[in-house]
Amino acid sequence: MCGIFGIYSHKDAANITYLGLYALQHRGQESAGIACLDGDSAHFHKQMGLVSDVFTADVLKALKGILAVGHVRYSTAGSSDLKNSQPIVVEYMKGYLALVHNGNLTNARIVRDELRDSGSIFQTTTDTEVIVHLMARSREKTTIDRLIAALHIVEGSYSLILLTQNELIAARDPYGIRPLCLGRLRDSYVISSESCAFDLIEAEFLREIEPGEVLVISERGLQSLFPFKRMTRKHCIFEYIYFARPDSFMFGRTVYTIRKAFGRELAKRDSIDADMVIPIPDSGIGAAIGYSQASGIPFELGLIRNHYVGRTFIEPEPSIRHFGVKLKHNAIHDLVKGKRLVVIDDSIVRATTSRKIISMLRYYGAKEIHFRVSSPPTKYPCFYGIDTPTRKQLIASSHTVDEIKSYMKCDSLRYLTVEDMKNAIEGDYTFCDACFTGDYFIPFPKSMDMEQMELFSNDY
Ligand code: AMP
Repeated sequence: MCGIFGIYSHKDAANITYLGLYALQHRGQESAGIACLDGDSAHFHKQMGLVSDVFTADVLKALKGILAVGHVRYSTAGSSDLKNSQPIVVEYMKGYLALVHNGNLTNARIVRDELRDSGSIFQTTTDTEVIVHLMARSREKTTIDRLIAALHIVEGSYSLILLTQNELIAARDPYGIRPLCLGRLRDSYVISSESCAFDLIEAEFLREIEPGEVLVISERGLQSLFPFKRMTRKHCIFEYIYFARPDSFMFGRTVYTIRKAFGRELAKRDSIDADMVIPIPDSGIGAAIGYSQASGIPFELGLIRNHYVGRTFIEPEPSIRHFGVKLKHNAIHDLVKGKRLVVIDDSIVRATTSRKIISMLRYYGAKEIHFRVSSPPTKYPCFYGIDTPTRKQLIASSHTVDEIKSYMKCDSLRYLTVEDMKNAIEGDYTFCDACFTGDYFIPFPKSMDMEQMELFSNDY
């Protein structure tokens, strides 16, 4: 879970990248970084924190150059600290390189061990770093061929942007798991995880980078290479369910449209009589609108979200820890009092948040609570770049829907089925849904299950 952005040939490259990262902030809030290559020198700045905290006007002024790449990080491999933040900037025999990556390399541990055993000294504990080591050791002549050689060795998911001193290279794994798109900003080209970044900088969306494509942007223009065996597309369905911004165009569709369709599908098989549909904001909003439109039950914003609660929130003393879920969500009392509610969220992970929200709604007098989830039960961890906890922590991997309902203390609980999810996506279904089905199409080492971050251990 990360956001990446790159720009080729713009006099304000760092500033534009800063704006691009702002639009991609939802993809990672742990650290942010920008690297610019300027002739023979490299300028970069990376720090833990949000984009707005990491970059000041002075910092941006020092990032000189017409080529830039940027990254916002939400770790899926390697711990969350500064040494693991990106861009990774290195100087090798062909000059400077700056690399940003969104995804998860499933064989990184094995490749890394081999490289280390034969002399490589690693600076970070991220999966991404193996790519630059493999490039440095490659016997190929050009940087592009070295990159392609490295990508032939790694497995897993990657959308990446590589900056050399005179070119910007974008690459997407052969399955197209994570998103990446190309835009034009007057005479410059821009690459971004999501198209919402193009809207902010007023760039024109040109197209998505194809699965397995290596796109080289240089003074010769655009050169598109397809050096890998063609695979069946496996776009990450969770980008649609939760992760991407609703205003982004991704995998050939607008995210908001798909979220609404998930909600409509949920409503189709539901016969609940209720007074209102309320989303858990922000993630449940699109599906709740779709549900409301299909069922005719009025949509209301019964829950209000505080947008200023970051993941770095420090728990105060236990003696004054009574905020619970209200730190992030609060209910509109007189709206929910005495009402039969359909409450919609995009997914259930450990059910701890949803359980607390239900208890709060009851406290404010809700008469009935029918919880609806606009995705199938999340039973399996993701090894391809979304940070989900281990199976042990995923409530749906060890509990039936009825048991989850009892735990959450709602009057009824329904999930979207895998079939309904497929129906909601018109056209060919070309998605990875391993988090729901366990259908892992790229192998990963057994130990990886244990390596998943304990993301949800700090309940708010
Ligand atoms: P819970 O009720 O505790 O299971 O938490 C569910 C909430 O976590 C939902 O609102 C989801 O939008 C959110 N969620 C799902 N997957 C993730 C993830 N990988 N990272 C952060 N939040 C997530």
